[in-house]
Amino acid sequence: KKVLIVGGVAGGASTAARLRRLDEKIEIIMFEKGEHISFANCGLPYYIGGTIEERDALLVQTPEKMRSRFNIDVRVKNEVLSIDREKKEVKVKDLDSGKIYKETYDYLVLSPGASPIKPPIPGIDSPNIFTLRNIPDTDAIKEYLDNKKPKRAVVVGGGFIGIEMAENLYDRGLNVSIVEMADQVMGPIDFDMAQIVHQHIKSKGVKLYLKDGVKEFEYKDGVTRVTLQSGKTLDADIVILAIGVRADSKLAVDCGLEVNQRGGIVVDEYLRTSDKNIFAIGDAIEVVDFVNGSKTMIPLAGPANKQGRIVANNIVGRSEKYKGTQGTSIAKVFDLTVASTGNNEKLLNRMGKKYGKDYKIALIHSKSHAGYYPGAIPMTIKLIFNLKGKILGAQIVGYDGVDKRIDVIASAIRFGGTVYDLKELELAYAPPYSSAKDPVNMAGFTAE
Ligand code: FAD
Repeated sequence: KKVLIVGGVAGGASTAARLRRLDEKIEIIMFEKGEHISFANCGLPYYIGGTIEERDALLVQTPEKMRSRFNIDVRVKNEVLSIDREKKEVKVKDLDSGKIYKETYDYLVLSPGASPIKPPIPGIDSPNIFTLRNIPDTDAIKEYLDNKKPKRAVVVGGGFIGIEMAENLYDRGLNVSIVEMADQVMGPIDFDMAQIVHQHIKSKGVKLYLKDGVKEFEYKDGVTRVTLQSGKTLDADIVILAIGVRADSKLAVDCGLEVNQRGGIVVDEYLRTSDKNIFAIGDAIEVVDFVNGSKTMIPLAGPANKQGRIVANNIVGRSEKYKGTQGTSIAKVFDLTVASTGNNEKLLNRMGKKYGKDYKIALIHSKSHAGYYPGAIPMTIKLIFNLKGKILGAQIVGYDGVDKRIDVIASAIRFGGTVYDLKELELAYAPPYSSAKDPVNMAGFTAE
């Protein structure tokens, strides 16, 4: 069997490694148009900020190691240009030599990821406006910061990457403003929970412009003037554009594979595209929302890795289904931790017909551990459940212990849990870690 993989980072590299573990003989070729494979996308903002000091730490796996350890033919700086589904063949360009060649397959796995959105705003190509996806982007931003020593940064977009970049630029001593078109930052949480985040961001001296988009950028002598829709202007020595990503599905579109309206590659429960010999995974695909069963797109590293593993299993004949993505996510926002899992209220209201007002909310403030043991700080938990008590989603904003609580609730959701289950969960307790009634139990009690 011969398997070709397009994309050598989260999904692609997981597929390759799992395939090799399952089958020593299978021929595996992994194409990556960039210079690096399996790098830590999620760590990039922290390297820019200086928390991660060594650039090498970002390179989780090198082509050499992948070749020698897994016997995988890794071809970096090789871009797959097109797919001939009839001949089961791809056309590839070696970006160093410019040579174009063909490679056949029995199975093809697409894990091309998603690119930062760059709308046609006037001046968007100014030399001090950056997006962040990979190592070259990271190097470019870091070099600009090190050499030009900018003082004022404008971050456009208040999602994970925007907020993480805002914090890391702030850590480097820059004066930071965040511009966000919606009325809140951090889309996965609801407005009420986001208010805590807004307050915290402002308390750091970071300026927050909500409900305002960028109208134009004007670059002159190292400074970009950012004009907002409201007419306000901000002068920036550096601009980070982080307003979301778009599936890199051109290859799939060009060869006639089915994609959704947002360009997400459509796959079945086995992660097979509309061509039975082609699988697709990661940020580029449409997934099923684990909680409500609708189709959606959720670009996160955990799902991409798991999907890679499932596709490898399916290629060797262990038929395994992907059960959907629930969007469990977490981010550090200065001193705060903001986490969520499952559906939020905004989504449930948008879905209207299906859920209508058929959900309830428990909102609690609970201490991270026993109040009598030093250092206990409150966290806010918003638990959303249906009228039978089934958990639909949760959001937590706090300082300490947020990560484990969200993971407990995320697990409960995976197992179809109810608020009554949360009540009953027996969770680890000693005063430095929790209370005899853990915040998750408390959420269950309140919901009951
Ligand atoms: P990628 O990992 O992006 O890999 C796709 C690769 O395919 C790319 O390297 C691309 O060059 C290559 N490629 C595309 N087309 C071709 C072609 N035609 N030929 C050859 N190669 C091609 N997720 C989290 O869950 N938590 C986080 O904290 C988090 N932080 C993030 C921070 C940043 C700055 C970024 C950019 C992302 C972050 N993510 C995070 C998202 C996570 O990185 C992605 O969900 C994950 O990498 C998706 O995996 P993928 O395999 O689909 O795509």
